[in-house]
Amino acid sequence: MNRQLQGNLLDGIKSGKVCPYCHMSTELVDSSLIYGTSYGMIYLCAKCRAWVGVHKGTDVALGRLANDELREWKKLAHGYFDPLWKRKIEKENCSKKEARGAAYKWLSSKMSLSPEDTHIGLFDVDQCKKVVEICREYHKRKHY
Ligand SMILES: [Zn+2]
Repeated sequence: MNRQLQGNLLDGIKSGKVCPYCHMSTELVDSSLIYGTSYGMIYLCAKCRAWVGVHKGTDVALGRLANDELREWKKLAHGYFDPLWKRKIEKENCSKKEARGAAYKWLSSKMSLSPEDTHIGLFDVDQCKKVVEICREYHKRKHY
């Protein structure tokens, strides 16, 4: 695959327009198709049982599509990562935006990623595992 094509594919995956598993185009459908109740629109690949939500009132995906395995790992990654910045809010009385921003910046340097690529919503399974590993160490050190 040439670099241009690979770039387009990555952009498509990041924007939710392309399924990261089968590389086919996704469909923008109502989430009631999956959940029975509507929580807004989602990008769906029915074949891979993979989907992702959109920012409210837009067709902008929250990240790449996730299948069952990745959904579990993302939940776990958030479970380890979110308490770190929530603790900062309590300790330093700063805003949620500030605390989360600082935490993601810290995570991006730990993972050697650019800040704009550092969002759990964009991560694959291996990256989620790395988040758990990194944050687990931190929880230990701080006797969290
Ligand atoms: Zn697919």
